[in-house]
Amino acid sequence: MAKVYNFSAGPAVLPHAVLAEAQSELLDWHGSGMSVMEMSHRGKEFMQIVHEAEQDLRSLLHIPNNYKVLFLQGGASLQFAMLPLNLLGDKKSVDIVDTGHWSKLAIKEARRYSAVNVVASSEDRHYLYVPAEDTWQRDPNAAYLHYTSNETIGGLQFPFTPSSLPGVPLVCDMSSDFLSREIDVTQFGLIYAGAQKNIGPSGLTVVIVREDLLGLAQPDTPTMLNYQVHADADSMYNTPGTYPIYIAGLVFKWLKEQGGVNAMAARNAEKAGLLYHAIDSSNGFYTCPVDPEFRSKMNIVFRLKDESLEETFLSEAKKNGLVQLKGHRALGGMRASIYNAMPIEGVKALVHFMQEFARQHS
Ligand code: PMP
Repeated sequence: MAKVYNFSAGPAVLPHAVLAEAQSELLDWHGSGMSVMEMSHRGKEFMQIVHEAEQDLRSLLHIPNNYKVLFLQGGASLQFAMLPLNLLGDKKSVDIVDTGHWSKLAIKEARRYSAVNVVASSEDRHYLYVPAEDTWQRDPNAAYLHYTSNETIGGLQFPFTPSSLPGVPLVCDMSSDFLSREIDVTQFGLIYAGAQKNIGPSGLTVVIVREDLLGLAQPDTPTMLNYQVHADADSMYNTPGTYPIYIAGLVFKWLKEQGGVNAMAARNAEKAGLLYHAIDSSNGFYTCPVDPEFRSKMNIVFRLKDESLEETFLSEAKKNGLVQLKGHRALGGMRASIYNAMPIEGVKALVHFMQEFARQHS
């Protein structure tokens, strides 16, 4: 078993069983005599791997047939540009909700290709809440509405799915809570997620896009940035990230064995509940600044009342096998990322450590 519990925000912990399986077939995949890394992406072995990965993802999220699943590269960050390039069509503007670091970057990049209407922002209170939907200033003629379901740095998560206006598809950056809870794909025009949190290693971006949104790309869109090109070629227009796709496929199988997305959601709620309870019952030794109803179940941010103890906290945690707890440099403090693959034992170990640390330093 792993010797540490890894709370990194991404690349992040992967299921031990998946890594062990990958290790066991590293040199020889299913008797092919080849490593997956050595296979042609067009050979029958890899075609089987990518086909199964897609089918397993489709079954986990009940993705209807009128949606394409794309396995792309360039990270979630490239989607910030691909979205307006592909979906603006003959519209003039896109709607984006601003809830923190990642939505801000999505806005900045979209502005290179389109007018952007920021429908709501929680910047006024340091992104500690999600603005109520009935206050959003939406444009009925927007090409789409974009939001970030989980702000990985701020530890802020949407507890609801925004409603979609007729003709304005909903687009969601689900990078850090994809597959962590049940979603209704039919409510979305497009969902995307960088892999390195809940899907697999970095180097892969999953895009789920409704077919009627294909074919609208601006004429000067680079070929590699055109969803239609990748959809027509079943993500094989060029050489895809074969190894990340293979590992993602193993993660999807693992998720199915664990009982699927609903079972994960229940576990994630339990894990997050344990951590937030430890923070809230620490008599102010630890605090989580995010408004309770919007606290992320994936990235738990917290501070120590006495900031001068932070370095000691991190080094003592490390001695106890609890690593990568330092908050994002933009925010400071601590952050415990507890994606699907973080076992509840890891969260319990962290809670135990936090309680002991508070006792010793109060
Ligand atoms: N969106 C969110 C919500 C993220 O957490 C991240 C990465 N941490 C990104 C976008 C950017 O992803 P990438 O590094 O894959 O470009």
